[in-house]
Amino acid sequence: MKTNFEVLIIGGGTAGIMTAAQLKKKDKNLSIGLIEPGDTHYYQPAWTLVGAGTYKFKKTAKPMADVIPKGVEWIKDYATGFDAANNIVTNKQSGEINYDYLVVAPGLVYDFSLIEGLKEALDKGVACSNYTDPEYTWEVIRNFKGGNAVFTQPTTPIKCGGAPQKIAYLAADHFKKKKIKDNTNVIFATPGSVIFGVKPIRETLTKVLDNYGMHFKPFYAPFKIDPDKKIIYFRHTAEGENQCVITEDNSIGEKMTGDAVIELPFDILHLAPPQTAPKFVKESDLVTETGWLDVDHHSLQHNKYANIFGLGDVAALPTAKTGAAIRKQVPVVVKNIMMLRKQQQAWVNSYNGYSSCPLVTGYGKMVLAEFDYDGNFIPDPKLKRMLIFRSDKQHWRLWLLKKFMLPYLYWNKMLKGVDV
Ligand SMILES: Cc1cc2nc3c(=O)[nH]c(=O)nc-3n(C[C@H](O)[C@H](O)[C@H](O)COP(=O)(O)OP(=O)(O)OC[C@H]3O[C@@H](n4cnc5c(N)ncnc54)[C@H](O)[C@@H]3O)c2cc1C
Repeated sequence: MKTNFEVLIIGGGTAGIMTAAQLKKKDKNLSIGLIEPGDTHYYQPAWTLVGAGTYKFKKTAKPMADVIPKGVEWIKDYATGFDAANNIVTNKQSGEINYDYLVVAPGLVYDFSLIEGLKEALDKGVACSNYTDPEYTWEVIRNFKGGNAVFTQPTTPIKCGGAPQKIAYLAADHFKKKKIKDNTNVIFATPGSVIFGVKPIRETLTKVLDNYGMHFKPFYAPFKIDPDKKIIYFRHTAEGENQCVITEDNSIGEKMTGDAVIELPFDILHLAPPQTAPKFVKESDLVTETGWLDVDHHSLQHNKYANIFGLGDVAALPTAKTGAAIRKQVPVVVKNIMMLRKQQQAWVNSYNGYSSCPLVTGYGKMVLAEFDYDGNFIPDPKLKRMLIFRSDKQHWRLWLLKKFMLPYLYWNKMLKGVDV
Protein backbone atom coordinates (compact mmCIF):
# COMPACT_ATOMS: atom_id res chain seq x y z
CA MET A 1 0.00 0.00 0.00
CA LYS A 2 1.14 3.49 -0.85
CA THR A 3 2.03 5.54 2.23
CA ASN A 4 2.73 8.93 0.72
CA PHE A 5 0.20 11.20 -0.98
CA GLU A 6 0.17 14.70 -2.27
CA VAL A 7 -3.28 15.15 -0.75
CA LEU A 8 -4.56 12.96 2.08
CA ILE A 9 -8.23 13.21 3.03
CA ILE A 10 -9.66 11.88 6.29
CA GLY A 11 -13.32 10.89 5.87
CA GLY A 12 -15.40 9.70 2.94
CA GLY A 13 -18.57 11.57 3.85
CA THR A 14 -20.10 14.55 2.07
CA ALA A 15 -17.05 16.77 2.60
CA GLY A 16 -14.34 14.19 1.88
CA ILE A 17 -15.88 12.81 -1.33
CA MET A 18 -16.81 16.22 -2.73
CA THR A 19 -13.30 17.53 -2.05
CA ALA A 20 -11.63 14.48 -3.64
CA ALA A 21 -13.88 14.73 -6.69
CA GLN A 22 -13.29 18.46 -7.24
CA LEU A 23 -9.52 18.05 -6.77
CA LYS A 24 -9.44 15.26 -9.36
CA LYS A 25 -11.42 17.43 -11.76
CA LYS A 26 -8.77 20.15 -11.42
CA ASP A 27 -5.86 17.74 -11.91
CA LYS A 28 -6.42 14.09 -12.70
CA ASN A 29 -2.77 13.25 -11.95
CA LEU A 30 -2.92 14.49 -8.37
CA SER A 31 -2.15 11.64 -5.96
CA ILE A 32 -4.97 11.50 -3.42
CA GLY A 33 -5.42 9.05 -0.55
CA LEU A 34 -8.75 8.85 1.26
CA ILE A 35 -8.97 7.27 4.71
CA GLU A 36 -12.49 5.95 5.32
CA PRO A 37 -13.50 2.88 7.37
CA GLY A 38 -17.14 2.59 6.24
CA ASP A 39 -18.60 0.45 3.43
CA THR A 40 -21.58 2.75 2.89
CA HIS A 41 -22.00 6.42 2.09
CA TYR A 42 -25.25 8.02 3.31
CA TYR A 43 -27.28 10.97 2.08
CA GLN A 44 -28.32 12.01 5.57
CA PRO A 45 -30.54 15.00 4.66
CA ALA A 46 -33.24 12.59 3.45
CA TRP A 47 -33.40 10.88 6.87
CA THR A 48 -35.93 13.52 7.95
CA LEU A 49 -38.25 12.27 5.20
CA VAL A 50 -37.54 8.62 6.12
CA GLY A 51 -38.57 9.43 9.70
CA ALA A 52 -41.88 10.75 8.36
CA GLY A 53 -42.53 7.70 6.18
CA THR A 54 -42.18 9.52 2.87
CA TYR A 55 -38.75 8.31 1.64
CA LYS A 56 -37.13 4.87 1.53
CA PHE A 57 -34.06 4.50 3.76
CA LYS A 58 -32.34 2.31 1.20
CA LYS A 59 -32.41 5.20 -1.27
CA THR A 60 -30.21 7.20 1.13
CA ALA A 61 -27.33 4.69 0.98
CA LYS A 62 -24.79 3.76 -1.69
CA PRO A 63 -21.69 1.56 -1.53
CA MET A 64 -18.64 3.65 -0.60
CA ALA A 65 -16.73 2.05 -3.48
CA ASP A 66 -19.23 3.62 -5.92
CA VAL A 67 -18.79 7.19 -4.67
CA ILE A 68 -15.02 7.33 -4.25
CA PRO A 69 -13.78 9.11 -7.39
CA LYS A 70 -11.73 7.15 -9.90
CA GLY A 71 -8.00 7.44 -9.30
CA VAL A 72 -8.38 8.18 -5.57
CA GLU A 73 -6.79 5.50 -3.38
CA TRP A 74 -9.18 4.23 -0.70
CA ILE A 75 -7.40 3.46 2.57
CA LYS A 76 -10.07 1.45 4.34
CA ASP A 77 -9.09 2.29 7.87
CA TYR A 78 -9.63 4.59 10.85
CA ALA A 79 -7.33 7.58 11.27
CA THR A 80 -6.22 7.57 14.91
CA GLY A 81 -3.97 10.58 15.32
CA PHE A 82 -1.80 13.33 13.87
CA ASP A 83 1.86 14.24 13.85
CA ALA A 84 1.22 17.50 12.05
CA ALA A 85 4.75 18.84 12.45
CA ASN A 86 5.98 15.88 10.36
CA ASN A 87 3.02 15.66 7.96
CA ILE A 88 1.89 12.28 9.25
CA VAL A 89 -1.51 10.75 10.01
CA THR A 90 -1.53 7.54 12.05
CA ASN A 91 -4.08 4.81 11.42
CA LYS A 92 -5.54 1.81 13.22
CA GLN A 93 -4.10 -0.83 10.87
CA SER A 94 -2.21 0.94 8.11
CA GLY A 95 0.31 2.68 10.35
CA GLU A 96 1.67 6.06 9.31
CA ILE A 97 0.72 7.86 6.11
CA ASN A 98 2.53 10.97 4.85
CA TYR A 99 1.06 13.90 2.99
CA ASP A 100 1.90 17.24 1.45
CA TYR A 101 -1.60 18.58 2.10
CA LEU A 102 -4.15 17.21 4.54
CA VAL A 103 -7.92 17.62 4.46
CA VAL A 104 -9.59 16.74 7.77
CA ALA A 105 -13.25 15.79 7.25
CA PRO A 106 -14.28 12.91 9.55
CA GLY A 107 -17.59 14.55 10.54
CA LEU A 108 -18.74 14.36 14.16
CA VAL A 109 -19.75 11.70 16.66
CA TYR A 110 -22.67 11.26 19.04
CA ASP A 111 -21.92 11.40 22.76
CA PHE A 112 -24.94 9.74 24.36
CA SER A 113 -23.37 9.98 27.82
CA LEU A 114 -24.07 13.73 27.94
CA ILE A 115 -27.77 13.03 28.61
CA GLU A 116 -28.29 10.54 31.44
CA GLY A 117 -30.48 7.62 30.39
CA LEU A 118 -30.42 8.53 26.67
CA LYS A 119 -28.59 5.41 25.49
CA GLU A 120 -30.90 3.16 27.49
CA ALA A 121 -33.97 5.04 26.21
CA LEU A 122 -32.85 4.60 22.60
CA ASP A 123 -31.82 0.95 23.11
CA LYS A 124 -35.20 0.13 24.70
CA GLY A 125 -37.06 1.97 21.93
CA VAL A 126 -38.57 4.41 24.43
CA ALA A 127 -36.95 7.29 22.55
CA CYS A 128 -36.28 7.61 18.83
CA SER A 129 -33.99 9.74 16.68
CA ASN A 130 -33.69 10.47 12.98
CA TYR A 131 -29.97 10.82 13.68
CA THR A 132 -29.59 7.15 14.61
CA ASP A 133 -32.51 5.21 13.14
CA PRO A 134 -35.02 7.18 11.05
CA GLU A 135 -37.00 4.06 10.10
CA TYR A 136 -37.75 3.48 13.78
CA THR A 137 -38.88 7.11 14.13
CA TRP A 138 -41.53 6.46 11.50
CA GLU A 139 -42.63 3.28 13.29
CA VAL A 140 -43.08 5.29 16.49
CA ILE A 141 -44.96 8.16 14.79
CA ARG A 142 -47.14 5.76 12.80
CA ASN A 143 -48.18 3.81 15.89
CA PHE A 144 -48.82 6.81 18.13
CA LYS A 145 -52.38 6.99 19.48
CA GLY A 146 -52.24 10.27 21.41
CA GLY A 147 -50.64 11.93 24.45
CA ASN A 148 -47.44 13.96 24.72
CA ALA A 149 -45.19 13.88 21.63
CA VAL A 150 -41.96 15.55 22.76
CA PHE A 151 -39.28 16.72 20.31
CA THR A 152 -36.04 18.18 21.62
CA GLN A 153 -32.33 18.79 21.04
CA PRO A 154 -29.18 19.04 23.17
CA THR A 155 -27.04 22.00 24.15
CA THR A 156 -24.05 20.89 22.01
CA PRO A 157 -23.74 21.94 18.35
CA ILE A 158 -25.57 19.44 16.12
CA LYS A 159 -25.57 18.69 12.43
CA CYS A 160 -28.50 20.25 10.66
CA GLY A 161 -29.78 22.32 13.56
CA GLY A 162 -33.25 22.39 11.98
CA ALA A 163 -33.69 18.60 11.82
CA PRO A 164 -35.19 18.21 15.35
CA GLN A 165 -37.98 20.67 14.55
CA LYS A 166 -38.62 19.43 10.99
CA ILE A 167 -39.68 16.02 12.24
CA ALA A 168 -41.90 17.73 14.85
CA TYR A 169 -43.80 19.57 12.07
CA LEU A 170 -44.13 16.42 9.98
CA ALA A 171 -45.39 14.48 12.99
CA ALA A 172 -47.90 17.25 13.81
CA ASP A 173 -49.13 17.15 10.21
CA HIS A 174 -49.43 13.36 10.36
CA PHE A 175 -51.41 13.49 13.64
CA LYS A 176 -53.75 16.05 12.06
CA LYS A 177 -54.35 13.81 9.05
CA LYS A 178 -54.88 10.81 11.33
CA LYS A 179 -57.38 12.88 13.34
CA ILE A 180 -55.64 12.35 16.66
CA LYS A 181 -54.66 16.00 16.93
CA ASP A 182 -57.23 16.76 19.65
CA ASN A 183 -55.84 14.25 22.11
CA THR A 184 -52.21 15.01 21.27
CA ASN A 185 -49.78 17.63 22.54
CA VAL A 186 -46.89 18.21 20.17
CA ILE A 187 -44.12 19.87 22.18
CA PHE A 188 -40.93 21.30 20.75
CA ALA A 189 -38.43 22.04 23.53
CA THR A 190 -35.08 23.65 22.72
CA PRO A 191 -32.20 25.13 24.72
CA GLY A 192 -32.29 28.06 22.26
CA SER A 193 -34.14 31.29 22.86
CA VAL A 194 -36.05 31.38 19.55
CA ILE A 195 -37.42 28.88 17.03
CA PHE A 196 -34.89 29.97 14.35
CA GLY A 197 -32.15 32.59 14.26
CA VAL A 198 -32.94 34.11 10.85
CA LYS A 199 -35.74 36.70 11.13
CA PRO A 200 -37.95 36.09 8.07
CA ILE A 201 -37.75 32.33 8.63
CA ARG A 202 -38.57 32.76 12.31
CA GLU A 203 -41.71 34.70 11.41
CA THR A 204 -42.95 31.93 9.13
CA LEU A 205 -42.12 29.19 11.65
CA THR A 206 -43.91 31.02 14.44
CA LYS A 207 -47.07 30.85 12.32
CA VAL A 208 -46.43 27.16 11.56
CA LEU A 209 -46.18 26.42 15.31
CA ASP A 210 -49.46 28.29 15.92
CA ASN A 211 -51.28 26.59 13.07
CA TYR A 212 -50.42 23.16 14.41
CA GLY A 213 -51.22 24.29 17.97
CA MET A 214 -47.75 23.15 19.04
CA HIS A 215 -46.25 23.94 22.43
CA PHE A 216 -43.00 25.80 21.90
CA LYS A 217 -40.63 25.68 24.89
CA PRO A 218 -37.48 27.82 24.58
CA PHE A 219 -34.64 27.68 27.15
CA TYR A 220 -35.22 23.94 27.77
CA ALA A 221 -31.94 21.99 27.98
CA PRO A 222 -32.53 18.21 28.28
CA PHE A 223 -30.13 16.52 30.72
CA LYS A 224 -31.81 13.28 31.87
CA ILE A 225 -34.34 10.70 30.71
CA ASP A 226 -36.07 8.13 32.87
CA PRO A 227 -36.91 5.43 30.32
CA ASP A 228 -39.08 3.42 32.75
CA LYS A 229 -41.26 6.31 33.92
CA LYS A 230 -41.10 7.98 30.46
CA ILE A 231 -40.11 11.34 31.86
CA ILE A 232 -37.59 13.76 30.37
CA TYR A 233 -35.87 16.31 32.59
CA PHE A 234 -34.82 19.75 31.44
CA ARG A 235 -32.77 22.50 33.02
CA HIS A 236 -34.33 25.85 32.37
CA THR A 237 -31.55 27.98 30.96
CA ALA A 238 -33.00 31.48 31.13
CA GLU A 239 -32.22 33.04 34.46
CA GLY A 240 -35.06 34.58 36.41
CA GLU A 241 -37.74 33.29 34.09
CA ASN A 242 -38.49 30.00 35.78
CA GLN A 243 -41.92 31.03 37.01
CA CYS A 244 -43.08 31.70 33.46
CA VAL A 245 -42.39 28.20 32.25
CA ILE A 246 -45.51 26.32 33.21
CA THR A 247 -48.62 27.55 31.47
CA GLU A 248 -51.77 27.95 33.54
CA ASP A 249 -53.73 25.09 32.04
CA ASN A 250 -50.59 22.90 32.04
CA SER A 251 -52.27 20.46 29.69
CA ILE A 252 -48.92 18.80 29.06
CA GLY A 253 -48.39 17.88 32.72
CA GLU A 254 -45.08 19.63 33.38
CA LYS A 255 -43.70 19.76 36.91
CA MET A 256 -41.12 22.12 38.27
CA THR A 257 -38.93 20.36 40.80
CA GLY A 258 -35.94 21.63 42.71
CA ASP A 259 -33.67 24.18 41.19
CA ALA A 260 -35.06 25.17 37.78
CA VAL A 261 -35.59 21.52 36.81
CA ILE A 262 -38.61 20.69 34.72
CA GLU A 263 -40.07 17.20 34.49
CA LEU A 264 -42.09 16.44 31.39
CA PRO A 265 -43.89 13.13 30.85
CA PHE A 266 -43.86 11.81 27.29
CA ASP A 267 -45.62 9.20 25.22
CA ILE A 268 -43.19 9.57 22.36
CA LEU A 269 -39.81 11.26 22.49
CA HIS A 270 -37.63 12.24 19.54
CA LEU A 271 -34.31 13.90 20.07
CA ALA A 272 -30.98 14.71 18.47
CA PRO A 273 -28.16 13.18 20.53
CA PRO A 274 -25.40 15.45 21.89
CA GLN A 275 -22.57 15.76 19.35
CA THR A 276 -18.81 16.39 19.48
CA ALA A 277 -15.76 16.10 17.21
CA PRO A 278 -14.34 12.54 16.95
CA LYS A 279 -12.02 11.58 19.84
CA PHE A 280 -8.83 11.42 17.72
CA VAL A 281 -9.47 15.01 16.58
CA LYS A 282 -10.55 16.27 20.01
CA GLU A 283 -7.40 14.88 21.60
CA SER A 284 -5.04 16.32 18.97
CA ASP A 285 -3.34 19.72 18.93
CA LEU A 286 -5.47 20.76 15.97
CA VAL A 287 -8.54 21.92 17.88
CA THR A 288 -9.98 25.03 19.47
CA GLU A 289 -10.80 25.24 23.17
CA THR A 290 -14.22 23.77 22.44
CA GLY A 291 -12.69 20.71 20.77
CA TRP A 292 -13.58 21.36 17.11
CA LEU A 293 -11.02 21.64 14.27
CA ASP A 294 -9.35 25.05 14.41
CA VAL A 295 -9.60 26.52 10.91
CA ASP A 296 -9.78 30.03 9.54
CA HIS A 297 -13.46 30.94 9.10
CA HIS A 298 -13.02 32.20 5.54
CA SER A 299 -10.15 30.21 3.95
CA LEU A 300 -10.70 26.97 5.92
CA GLN A 301 -6.95 26.66 6.35
CA HIS A 302 -5.80 25.38 9.72
CA ASN A 303 -4.85 28.23 12.03
CA LYS A 304 -1.53 26.61 13.01
CA TYR A 305 -0.53 24.31 10.13
CA ALA A 306 -0.64 25.94 6.68
CA ASN A 307 -0.85 22.63 4.77
CA ILE A 308 -3.91 21.40 6.67
CA PHE A 309 -7.49 22.27 5.77
CA GLY A 310 -10.70 21.31 7.51
CA LEU A 311 -14.32 21.44 6.50
CA GLY A 312 -17.70 19.90 7.16
CA ASP A 313 -19.14 18.96 10.53
CA VAL A 314 -15.76 18.65 12.29
CA ALA A 315 -14.77 22.28 11.67
CA ALA A 316 -15.04 25.00 14.33
CA LEU A 317 -17.08 27.34 12.13
CA PRO A 318 -19.74 29.57 13.65
CA THR A 319 -22.42 28.49 11.19
CA ALA A 320 -24.86 25.60 10.86
CA LYS A 321 -23.25 22.20 10.19
CA THR A 322 -24.91 21.05 6.96
CA GLY A 323 -24.19 19.44 3.62
CA ALA A 324 -25.32 22.70 2.03
CA ALA A 325 -22.54 24.55 3.87
CA ILE A 326 -20.04 21.96 2.61
CA ARG A 327 -21.16 22.62 -0.98
CA LYS A 328 -19.81 26.17 -0.57
CA GLN A 329 -16.76 25.18 1.50
CA VAL A 330 -15.32 22.61 -0.91
CA PRO A 331 -14.40 25.00 -3.77
CA VAL A 332 -12.56 27.24 -1.28
CA VAL A 333 -10.46 24.35 0.06
CA VAL A 334 -9.80 23.01 -3.44
CA LYS A 335 -8.70 26.38 -4.83
CA ASN A 336 -6.42 27.01 -1.87
CA ILE A 337 -4.71 23.63 -2.19
CA MET A 338 -4.22 24.16 -5.93
CA MET A 339 -2.70 27.59 -5.26
CA LEU A 340 -0.40 26.31 -2.54
CA ARG A 341 0.86 23.60 -4.90
CA LYS A 342 1.87 26.30 -7.34
CA GLN A 343 3.51 28.19 -4.48
CA GLN A 344 1.11 31.04 -4.96
CA GLN A 345 0.39 33.14 -1.95
CA ALA A 346 -2.96 34.54 -3.07
CA TRP A 347 -5.64 33.20 -0.79
CA VAL A 348 -9.21 32.39 -1.46
CA ASN A 349 -10.94 33.43 1.70
CA SER A 350 -14.39 33.85 0.34
CA TYR A 351 -16.35 31.42 2.48
CA ASN A 352 -18.94 33.64 4.12
CA GLY A 353 -20.49 31.10 6.46
CA TYR A 354 -23.15 30.13 3.94
CA SER A 355 -25.37 27.37 5.23
CA SER A 356 -28.90 26.40 4.53
CA CYS A 357 -31.64 24.50 6.22
CA PRO A 358 -34.56 23.09 4.25
CA LEU A 359 -37.26 23.39 6.88
CA VAL A 360 -39.92 20.93 5.93
CA THR A 361 -43.05 22.25 7.64
CA GLY A 362 -45.48 19.49 6.66
CA TYR A 363 -46.09 16.94 3.91
CA GLY A 364 -45.71 18.88 0.66
CA LYS A 365 -44.53 22.11 2.30
CA MET A 366 -41.17 23.68 3.00
CA VAL A 367 -39.34 26.94 3.65
CA LEU A 368 -35.67 27.29 2.77
CA ALA A 369 -33.44 29.11 5.24
CA GLU A 370 -30.22 30.27 3.56
CA PHE A 371 -27.93 32.46 5.64
CA ASP A 372 -24.35 33.59 6.34
CA TYR A 373 -22.15 34.11 9.41
CA ASP A 374 -24.09 37.26 10.30
CA GLY A 375 -27.48 35.56 10.12
CA ASN A 376 -28.47 37.48 6.98
CA PHE A 377 -31.15 35.79 4.89
CA ILE A 378 -29.47 35.22 1.48
CA PRO A 379 -31.81 33.26 -0.82
CA ASP A 380 -30.19 31.71 -3.88
CA PRO A 381 -31.19 33.74 -6.99
CA LYS A 382 -31.43 30.42 -8.90
CA LEU A 383 -34.66 29.66 -7.00
CA LYS A 384 -36.44 32.11 -9.29
CA ARG A 385 -35.81 29.71 -12.15
CA MET A 386 -37.98 27.26 -10.23
CA LEU A 387 -40.61 30.00 -9.89
CA ILE A 388 -39.91 30.35 -6.18
CA PHE A 389 -39.79 34.03 -5.36
CA ARG A 390 -40.20 33.88 -1.56
CA SER A 391 -38.29 30.96 -0.06
CA ASP A 392 -39.04 32.29 3.44
CA LYS A 393 -42.69 31.29 2.86
CA GLN A 394 -43.99 27.73 2.72
CA HIS A 395 -44.05 26.40 -0.83
CA TRP A 396 -44.75 23.03 -2.43
CA ARG A 397 -42.05 23.59 -5.05
CA LEU A 398 -39.49 23.75 -2.24
CA TRP A 399 -40.75 20.36 -1.07
CA LEU A 400 -40.08 19.02 -4.58
CA LEU A 401 -36.59 20.49 -4.36
CA LYS A 402 -35.98 18.65 -1.08
CA LYS A 403 -37.51 15.32 -2.00
CA PHE A 404 -36.43 14.96 -5.62
CA MET A 405 -34.00 17.57 -6.91
CA LEU A 406 -31.47 17.78 -4.09
CA PRO A 407 -30.92 13.99 -3.81
CA TYR A 408 -30.49 13.86 -7.60
CA LEU A 409 -27.98 16.72 -7.56
CA TYR A 410 -26.15 15.18 -4.61
CA TRP A 411 -25.53 11.75 -6.12
CA ASN A 412 -25.09 12.83 -9.74
CA LYS A 413 -23.39 16.21 -9.58
CA MET A 414 -21.97 17.18 -6.18
CA LEU A 415 -20.30 13.84 -5.43
CA LYS A 416 -18.95 13.81 -8.99
CA GLY A 417 -17.07 17.07 -8.46
CA VAL A 418 -19.48 19.45 -10.20
CA ASP A 419 -19.57 22.80 -8.41
CA VAL A 420 -23.36 23.37 -8.50
C1 LIG B 1 -31.22 13.69 10.39
C2 LIG B 1 -30.30 14.58 9.59
C3 LIG B 1 -30.84 15.53 8.73
C4 LIG B 1 -30.02 16.36 8.00
N1 LIG B 1 -30.58 17.25 7.13
C5 LIG B 1 -29.80 18.02 6.35
C6 LIG B 1 -30.38 18.86 5.36
O1 LIG B 1 -31.59 18.90 5.19
N2 LIG B 1 -29.56 19.62 4.60
C7 LIG B 1 -28.20 19.57 4.74
O2 LIG B 1 -27.50 20.24 4.00
N3 LIG B 1 -27.61 18.79 5.68
C8 LIG B 1 -28.38 18.00 6.48
N4 LIG B 1 -27.81 17.16 7.39
C9 LIG B 1 -26.37 17.30 7.71
C10 LIG B 1 -25.42 16.67 6.71
O3 LIG B 1 -25.78 15.36 6.44
C11 LIG B 1 -24.02 16.74 7.31
O4 LIG B 1 -23.74 18.08 7.66
C12 LIG B 1 -22.96 16.24 6.35
O5 LIG B 1 -23.19 14.89 6.01
C13 LIG B 1 -21.58 16.36 6.98
O6 LIG B 1 -20.61 15.89 6.11
P1 LIG B 1 -19.17 15.47 6.68
O7 LIG B 1 -18.43 14.96 5.50
O8 LIG B 1 -18.61 16.54 7.49
O9 LIG B 1 -19.51 14.25 7.65
P2 LIG B 1 -20.18 12.87 7.27
O10 LIG B 1 -20.97 12.98 6.02
O11 LIG B 1 -20.88 12.41 8.51
O12 LIG B 1 -18.95 11.93 6.95
C14 LIG B 1 -17.89 11.69 7.83
C15 LIG B 1 -17.13 10.47 7.31
O13 LIG B 1 -15.92 10.33 8.05
C16 LIG B 1 -15.72 8.98 8.37
N5 LIG B 1 -14.89 8.85 9.57
C17 LIG B 1 -15.28 8.98 10.84
N6 LIG B 1 -14.24 8.73 11.67
C18 LIG B 1 -13.18 8.48 10.87
C19 LIG B 1 -11.82 8.17 11.14
N7 LIG B 1 -11.36 8.02 12.38
N8 LIG B 1 -10.98 7.96 10.09
C20 LIG B 1 -11.44 8.09 8.81
N9 LIG B 1 -12.72 8.37 8.51
C21 LIG B 1 -13.59 8.57 9.54
C22 LIG B 1 -17.13 8.43 8.57
O14 LIG B 1 -17.16 7.02 8.38
C23 LIG B 1 -17.91 9.18 7.51
O15 LIG B 1 -17.99 8.47 6.28
C24 LIG B 1 -28.61 16.26 8.12
C25 LIG B 1 -28.05 15.30 8.96
C26 LIG B 1 -28.89 14.45 9.68
C27 LIG B 1 -28.28 13.39 10.57
